[in-house]
Amino acid sequence: MGREAQGGEAGRLVALDRYDILDTPREEGFDRITRLTRRIFDVPMSTITLIDGHRQWFKARSGVEACETARGPALCNVAMREPRILVVPDARADARFCENPFVTGPPRIRFYAGVPLRTPDGHSIGTLCAMDTRPRAFCDGEAETLADLSQIVMGELELRRVAMTDSLTGVLSRRAFRDEGARALALALRYGHPLACIMVDLDHFKAVNDGYGHPAGDRVLSAMASACRRELRTSDAFGRVGGEEFAVLLPHTDLASAMMVAEKLRAAIAQLRVATPAGPLRVSASFGVAALDATVTELDGLLRNADAALYAAKAGGRDRCVAHGPSREPAHGPASGRRPAIRTRVLKAGWLSLEGGRTRVDCTVRSLSDEGAGLKVMDAGVIPETFELVIEADHFSRPCHVVLRADGHLDVAFR
Ligand code: GH3
Ligand code: MG
Ligand code: MG
Repeated sequence: MGREAQGGEAGRLVALDRYDILDTPREEGFDRITRLTRRIFDVPMSTITLIDGHRQWFKARSGVEACETARGPALCNVAMREPRILVVPDARADARFCENPFVTGPPRIRFYAGVPLRTPDGHSIGTLCAMDTRPRAFCDGEAETLADLSQIVMGELELRRVAMTDSLTGVLSRRAFRDEGARALALALRYGHPLACIMVDLDHFKAVNDGYGHPAGDRVLSAMASACRRELRTSDAFGRVGGEEFAVLLPHTDLASAMMVAEKLRAAIAQLRVATPAGPLRVSASFGVAALDATVTELDGLLRNADAALYAAKAGGRDRCVAHGPSREPAHGPASGRRPAIRTRVLKAGWLSLEGGRTRVDCTVRSLSDEGAGLKVMDAGVIPETFELVIEADHFSRPCHVVLRADGHLDVAFR
């Protein structure tokens, strides 16, 4: 098997988050694998299961009604921790599972075989499993076949992840950036939030390649991308849209604030020293910044405006930031200069401590800021108004009250 995974449950969830797969629609490619699993082993049920903080969620399911269930009693939650496979020939005769609600009640599992879905860095993010309502045996050859099928699932997940990232710099590929950008724009238009775009182009980069060689140019690109990533929020979409051109989309950010972000990026790139055989190499970049306004209705319009500003930055002498539109200077109003405290998207396991700690309800933390959090639980309706939120991996514990609840989702403010 793969290398030993680092970081325990928190590391496992970071690994799962990289695939960006939770709550995505059904897809034929994955459904086909559960259908195949059913047919090969002649069982009525098979799922591709991914496990976050509080639930098992099925990317694909064949013969199973629910699209998710609580994590606690899930057999897949046990199988996920096995080094190779969990085989339960008869759950009713197995002391670990005979009282399990999925064994005593629907879907009345008697036979279960599940193989962990393991990432290349050794994290187990879920399982591929085969289930029956009758007891049965599972030979070594069958276990090997199920393991092979689980490798196909992981291969498919890995291919998608790689297609989303640029291999040299690790930022979003052009296509993934456009997909994310379209989503961010639709949200901003629908809710009337500000949205800004920064286009970045390295200055005289052809001269870097000519003078220091292409491999040195590649190192500059990857150092520059890392430097920018450090300055950006995880909610910002950062992509490589051309050879030495990058773009950032900043949700909840107006033009003046985006100009300040661009200035931070410019300073970070100007401070880089990239080692080459001919000594440390310094580079600079030019920035064009545009924000959503009444004239922009699609992503291309916003990118075009930022590109026009970038052209002006190049023409103005390079190594500078230019804003698109009538006001080329950053505004200095009270609303500008500080981006609002929006939440960072995360994937963390936590629990709600109720009734002074006597009751514990598992949750998955999907967003977090100093002021509050967005949580997923199995049944938001039964959660009281106030409780303590605990994220053990972060040594985090805060009293909260609910500000919004909608199917499975809780928005809480810290007190
Ligand atoms: P300007 O300041 O006007 O942007 O000048 P420039 O030289 O950066 O612009 P130009 O568009 O003429 O050149 C871009 C260069 O970027 C040429 C191309 O070889 C280089 N480039 C594009 N992709 C890569 C890459 O992946 N690696 C390396 N090392 N160089 C690349
Ligand atoms: Mg260019
Ligand atoms: Mg350039």
